[in-house]
Parts: sequence; C-alpha cells; structure tokens
Amino acid sequence: MQEIYNFSAGPAVMPKPVLKQIQNEMMSYRGSGQSVLEMSHRSSLFQEIIKKAEETLRALMQIPDEYDVLFLQGGASLQFTMVPLNLGIKKAGYIHTGIWAKKAIQEAEKLADLEVAVLASSAAKNFTYIPEITSVPQYLDYVHLTTNNTIEGTAFYTLPKTGDVPLVGDLSSNILSFDYDVKDFGLIYAGAQKNMGPAGMTVVIVRKDLLGKKKGLPAMIDYKLQAENDSMYNTPPTFAIYAAGLVFDWLKKQGGIKEMEQRSRQKAQLLYETLDASSLFYSSVAKKDRSLTTIPFMTGNSDLDDQFIKEAEKVGLVNLKGHRSVGGMRASLYNAFPLTGVETLTAFMQDFEQQNG
Ligand code: PMP
Repeated sequence: MQEIYNFSAGPAVMPKPVLKQIQNEMMSYRGSGQSVLEMSHRSSLFQEIIKKAEETLRALMQIPDEYDVLFLQGGASLQFTMVPLNLGIKKAGYIHTGIWAKKAIQEAEKLADLEVAVLASSAAKNFTYIPEITSVPQYLDYVHLTTNNTIEGTAFYTLPKTGDVPLVGDLSSNILSFDYDVKDFGLIYAGAQKNMGPAGMTVVIVRKDLLGKKKGLPAMIDYKLQAENDSMYNTPPTFAIYAAGLVFDWLKKQGGIKEMEQRSRQKAQLLYETLDASSLFYSSVAKKDRSLTTIPFMTGNSDLDDQFIKEAEKVGLVNLKGHRSVGGMRASLYNAFPLTGVETLTAFMQDFEQQNG
C-alpha cells in the first residue's frame, strides 16, 4: 500500500505505535474485559489512567508542584472564555498575532466588566511576523499570547517579559514541540487534537495562586472547582485522556520535549530550505518568526496551488490545503509527523517546480 503522509492541522497525525496500542487494548484494557470506552471514570482502572497521564505530562514539561494540571472539554476555544472569566478582574492585555489570537480577544471583549487592551499587533503586515512588546503595564490582570499561530505560521521563541503580570499562553499548536519553561507562564492551555491525541480534551496548566480570584462562576468554567475535583467535576473525556496518556508515554520514550524540538527543527529546516531555494514556492513569514510546526507556503497562483494539492494527494501527501483565510498550502509537522514525510514532500515540490515553474 502507498505510504500516506497526513499534513492535517488538527485533528492530526498520531504516533503509529500509539494507534496500534489503542487497537490492541480496544476490546479489553489490560485484561480487564472492558474497553476504555466502556469504563466508569470513577473506576480504579480509569483513575490509574488519568493519574498516569498527568504524571507523565508533568515529567515531560517539568511542571512544578505549584501548578495544577486539568483535562477539560470545550476545546481551546472555551479557554478563550474561561481565561478572562477566571482571571480577568479589570483589564487584560492581548497580543494580536492572527486569527486565533483575534478570537481570544473577541471572547474577552464580550465580558462587560473587563477592559481589553491590545498591547501589540502584527495585523498591518498580515500577521507575517511576531511583534515586539516593549513594556507591559503592571496593573494588567494577565497578558495573553498565542505561542504558535497555526494559520499564519509564526511562533514566539522568546516570551515577552511581563514582570508580575501572569502570562497566559495558547500553546495549542506547539505544545510539546518547543521547550517552553512552564514557570514563565501563569496559565497554559492547549487543545489535544494537534500534538497530544484525539479531539475532545483540552489541557490547562494553571498556577495555583491564580485560582479562585472570581467567585460565583458557573461550575463548569471554574478552574478552582475543576482543580479541586481533579478534572472530575463531571464525566471527563475519558478516551481522549487515555489516548493522550499513551502519546505522552511515547514522547517520553522518544527522548522528551528536547528531542521533539530537535526533530521539529530538522523537519522545518528541510521545508524552509526548499522554499528558500525555490523560484516557484515561497513563505511570507519573517525568517526569525517562522513556525516549526505549522508551515504555510504558496505559489502565488491559486490555480497552480490547487493543482499542486491535487497532484500531491495522488502520491500520498494529503491534507496540504492551506487555511481558507491564507490560501495556498500548509504543512503541519507535529511530533508524530515523520521526517520521511517532509523528505517526500520536498522532493515532490522540486519535481512539481521543474514541470510547472
Ligand atoms: N488556538 C489555536 C492556536 C488553534 O490552532 C486552534 C485550533 N486550530 C484553536 C485555538 C481552537 O481550538 P479548538 O478547536 O480546540 O477549540
């Protein structure tokens, strides 16, 4: 069978050994006679699964004890609302670097009591770079940024200095691929379906002193309540937590985040070198801000882009179509995506250029 390389931005490719393990354990989880799909979240079997998933994630990201780890539902998009509801007292700062950042800003703006300040924006240049943040007013409740802009293909490699103001990061599309220091953040959130497993689970890592700042929140959106209940206030997304736990184990075996970052650099470099050497394909992103995990590129001719995407699909390079707002192509190179896939893509790009350039 032809090898398929899946460049989807999310839900995205998962490690093959993890999928195999899920298959092996599907009908009977470790001799229990039950599938994880059938297991009570209160059972000792599942308690063990969620505990281990958290422990492994803590080890991978070196999450200090003064942070809680939550496995929630609602996607990263619900965090656009939960963050301001839980942490926003008077005024919050946002860094505007693309469509997902914009959505976070828009949701915060809906809260009547909260003032939202955009501290920096790259909108005027189509979000092709990461703007400088020179000073952060110390009266802000928090500063929000998107570490990797999934659609535009930029990433923060150095975080702004926010002083005593907690930094909140949407790490959805580069968590576990770039070695951020958790201690630089007051709160991190990320949807699972890119770099951690199937859709349905969102990881929130929150410094404990930030909990309980607002009283009377609806239960499901109250971090403090979720933390007090170990993410089990209601039925958690059990299967997604199980699968993510297996991905965390796989990551650990591969050598952890440092190794993943190294591999991400290698994969991204190959694609960027190909783009830079090409007279047909290009990337619009400022070199220093180029993402390692989500890489948009194009020919500048939408018919040719469509032709490329169609022909690529025929040779097993699938889901390369760019986000509709940017057009062209996008290669998502998350942790489970192999270097051989990038080698196949870049060879195919060179062939395509010879025939159509
Ligand atoms: N933030 C970023 C950076 C994303 O890439 C995405 C999904 N593409 C989201 C938020 C929204 O995630 P979800 O679909 O889990 O709500």
